[in-house]
Amino acid sequence: MSMPNASFVPRAALSAIVPVVADSPPAPLHLADNTNLFGVPPAALRELSALDPADLVHYPSSSGPELREAIAGYLDVSPNEIVLGCGADDVINCAFRAFCEPGEGIAYPDPTFMMARYFAITNNLRPLPVPYAGGALDTDGLLAARAAMLYVCAPNNPTGSQPHPAELHLLLERFGGPVIIDEAYAEFSGESIVNLVAEQPRLIVVRTFSKAFGLAGLRVGYAVASPALVREIEKTRGPFAVSTAALRAARAAVTEDVDWVHARVRDAIEARTELVRLLTERGFAPVPSRANFVLVPVANARRTAERLAASGIAVRILVALPGIGDAVRITVAPIPLMRQVADALRDAA
Ligand code: PMP
Repeated sequence: MSMPNASFVPRAALSAIVPVVADSPPAPLHLADNTNLFGVPPAALRELSALDPADLVHYPSSSGPELREAIAGYLDVSPNEIVLGCGADDVINCAFRAFCEPGEGIAYPDPTFMMARYFAITNNLRPLPVPYAGGALDTDGLLAARAAMLYVCAPNNPTGSQPHPAELHLLLERFGGPVIIDEAYAEFSGESIVNLVAEQPRLIVVRTFSKAFGLAGLRVGYAVASPALVREIEKTRGPFAVSTAALRAARAAVTEDVDWVHARVRDAIEARTELVRLLTERGFAPVPSRANFVLVPVANARRTAERLAASGIAVRILVALPGIGDAVRITVAPIPLMRQVADALRDAA
């Protein structure tokens, strides 16, 4: 019997990327993902343990109205300005696909969250990186890139730098297309432009439960934008992107545990200050951070990360960043661990 021809040809654009795998060597103390190592909101845990098998037989609601209502209360926006996704990743991916035709460009500061480039490519769009070493954003460069859409991360991953509000306002005023401001770490910086959504019809603010809210394992993120943009993102996302368990736990956390989260954020900032102090004392020059991680330039990031892994610590490896060079990115953890990390880095760098 002849078999059908099993050969296949992937889309040409995909040859430019590799599947995302954790690039940090595995180690017991995982400081590579910028998750919240200060605990999980108690109300979220309660909801997860209260799940009934009958709850799991059915699909969740498609658009998550109860969680959108709760987030609306948290951010003082309207529920119809919110679209949920399976993590902020999902929302960014869907927004790229919603507003750009194949072949159009997405401009973003470089370095930034690596998934901006990745999702541009997987959606047949052109990544248009504009160098950014921290400090001032190159707004002229972003505007001159001939992009269909802008992506700016505030605070920026991996540098931790917080773009100035005036820079973001200028981009919103001058750029003709949709602008994503990724505020995955906004709870740590305390700065947000989400209150501009009502008056800025092209602004898409992306947020997540994976960072300050400590729920990365559940995969819940969202965008806040005008109802017209939200509707288009919802189309590219499709239904049922957020599970019943995630919807309930995130809703409980954002309704009942906001004070608890703010207290953990204060703990993280205190630990970050201590980590920066210890690193500076040991001769490093960490990039000033407004997030729950610190970028530390080193001579050879791979070698340093491998040595750190040998002493039980996983960090993110960043190679040849524009304007910075090699660096490791370290997630902030409770203070007693920070001295151990600073000492290990001194020996590994
Ligand atoms: N945006 C930024 C800037 C991030 O750092 C991350 C996670 N590393 C995400 C989005 C994705 O978050 P989520 O877990 O919600 O998909």
